[in-house]
Amino acid sequence: MSKFQLDSLIRENVKNITPYSSARDEFKDFNRDMVFLDANENPNENGVNRYPDPQQHTLKNAIAEQQSVAPGQLLLGNGSDEVLDLLFRAFCEPGVDNTITMPPTYGMYKVLACINNVENKEVLLTPEFELDTTGILTTVNSFTKIIFICSPNNPTGNSFEDIAIEKLLTNFSGLVVVDEAYIDFSKGESWATKLERFPNLIVTQTLSKAYGMAGIRLGICIASPAIISVLNKIKPPYNVNALTQDRALEGLQRKEKTNKEVETILRERSVLQNELSTIGFVHQVYPSNSNFLLAKVDDAGKRYNQLLKKGIVVRNRSTQPLCKNTLRFTVGTSKENAILLKTLKELD
Ligand SMILES: *Cc1c(COP(=O)(O)O)cnc(C)c1O
Repeated sequence: MSKFQLDSLIRENVKNITPYSSARDEFKDFNRDMVFLDANENPNENGVNRYPDPQQHTLKNAIAEQQSVAPGQLLLGNGSDEVLDLLFRAFCEPGVDNTITMPPTYGMYKVLACINNVENKEVLLTPEFELDTTGILTTVNSFTKIIFICSPNNPTGNSFEDIAIEKLLTNFSGLVVVDEAYIDFSKGESWATKLERFPNLIVTQTLSKAYGMAGIRLGICIASPAIISVLNKIKPPYNVNALTQDRALEGLQRKEKTNKEVETILRERSVLQNELSTIGFVHQVYPSNSNFLLAKVDDAGKRYNQLLKKGIVVRNRSTQPLCKNTLRFTVGTSKENAILLKTLKELD
């Protein structure tokens, strides 16, 4: 396998782009009291009449400090979904290149591949929900640009072994994305700590899960400054709005509250795990490093509909490979979980 060379992975049109230079990009001296007559904004102050900082300096500084990386190693997006889409658009030539995912996993990778007219090759997890590294590496061809690893994985809940991910990082000369949407619920260390060792590694995180801010849409991409500058060339100038930047900063500053909430969710998960296992029609509850549990039941369609009638919405994952008759339960508040368990125990 040839060595990783970022330049050879970037689409030609992206290499040749002169990025749109926004009014706020050209004028970076935010500290002085200036008269802003450059962006056709309404001059009457109301808190949001100005365009937001296109590079989100304040927010990035806070995230960089928390992650022990440089601000230049961060790209922020309108949710992880935008970050993932930018990766396709920067590196995958439509109709030519391909990506690899390992179902059962997060559905957005495949959807984004479709939207971008990029072939997505699928290499199933093993029956134990582990990575088939040999299968993945034999599926790689010279047009494979990105491998998407979701760890902890949605919907199975488990994290993949470090050695398996490392094997892919060292033996594949394209980009390896590790989606860490659920990292805060896991004991494992973030792969962001290993960016120096792996120039082809891209880590994505989000404020949607542990931080409890799915509504503001903030996704985080952590990678080498070289990769980040490619993404910066193609991102929409104002992709993270001012309200989101403000709320995200507040959220990051409540680290202790977030930690407490995560601890509570983990305690609740363990109660839910134990109780679910005692229910007759629940055949298996898979171990989880996330804020949800995947369980195999006798008849997922039937149980899903019964719960729905009682006003409880869970996720039926049965259409996913290796997930026949499985339901995914998000861990709720202790009250919500009690309602779920009581309802499940009363079903005929
Ligand atoms: C929930 C989730 C995300 C979060 O996406 P956002 O767009 O940031 O809300 C990302 N990846 C996975 C695997 C998820 O389950």
